[in-house]
Amino acid sequence: MARLPEPLQNLIDAFERLPGVGPKTAARLAFFILNSPDPAVYGLVTSLQAVKNELGFCQVCFNITLAANPICDICSDAQRNKTSLCVVEEPLDVLALERTNAFNGLYHVLHGVLSPIEGVGPDDLKIRPLMERLKSGDITEVILATNPSMEGDATALFLHQQMTPLGIRVTRLARGLPIGSDLEYADQGTLSRALSGRQEMTS
Ligand SMILES: [Zn+2]
Repeated sequence: MARLPEPLQNLIDAFERLPGVGPKTAARLAFFILNSPDPAVYGLVTSLQAVKNELGFCQVCFNITLAANPICDICSDAQRNKTSLCVVEEPLDVLALERTNAFNGLYHVLHGVLSPIEGVGPDDLKIRPLMERLKSGDITEVILATNPSMEGDATALFLHQQMTPLGIRVTRLARGLPIGSDLEYADQGTLSRALSGRQEMTS
């Protein structure tokens, strides 16, 4: 079988490592790039580099921020309610909740969920800095807004157990969200209702 030139094969392999991209799509994308005009391709290269070079994670909440601003816009906004903290899995969840305009507190991004099957334990997530925030700050309520999936629920339960000795009010998003769904894909109305109908955690 004829082999593709190495640079093209490397590009296909790189696309195939992206989430949700199979071998056929990866090949289609690579040929699309090959046939694209130079400026379009270099624009893409610049965007890729900028994402890696100009962005970082907020030192407080671990949401995405410009590398030049080590503390993100939300954490440094004096208008936000500093007593309420919403814990989410990924930066995209912050975006989804911000779109609802139903929450004016602060966030904490875990960067994943506990998953024994995939070998993800508490130390692989931003749980330690979360607990330190709770011990040192003014936070009186934590809203556990992990996804309504098995891992999301297990992570919420684990966090609730960790937080119980601190005497902080801990709530979980209401069950308006479809089980197994992703917060980032929930429509604004559903997410708003889930937020306003949040319930005390019981374990
Ligand atoms: Zn922040």
